[in-house]
Amino acid sequence: MQSQGLGLLVILFFFGLAGGMIGRIKGSSFFIWFLVSFCVPFLGLLAAVLYRWDSRELRRPCPRCKAVLKLHDAVCHHCGAELEFPEVAIASEEAVRRRIAST
Ligand SMILES: [Zn+2]
Repeated sequence: MQSQGLGLLVILFFFGLAGGMIGRIKGSSFFIWFLVSFCVPFLGLLAAVLYRWDSRELRRPCPRCKAVLKLHDAVCHHCGAELEFPEVAIASEEAVRRRIAST
């Protein structure tokens, strides 16, 4: 009985490890995906696989310290500046037109 529980724990651990590594590769947190995959083995691992690629997200520079941030970041993790949702990085035609119109 006890060895069965241990075996399950080992399996869960490897699920956690796999999920964590996938999360890490995608530019997300190893620890978070380790926990998710450990607690919810199959679905957690699936979620890690389907999770968006953080390292492929659009990026933009912080207007204050020029650190490169994710487009969806609301606060600069480098200097702590609060960030407007950027028009620059998106640079849709409409955004550019609006920026010209407002200056
Ligand atoms: Zn900054």
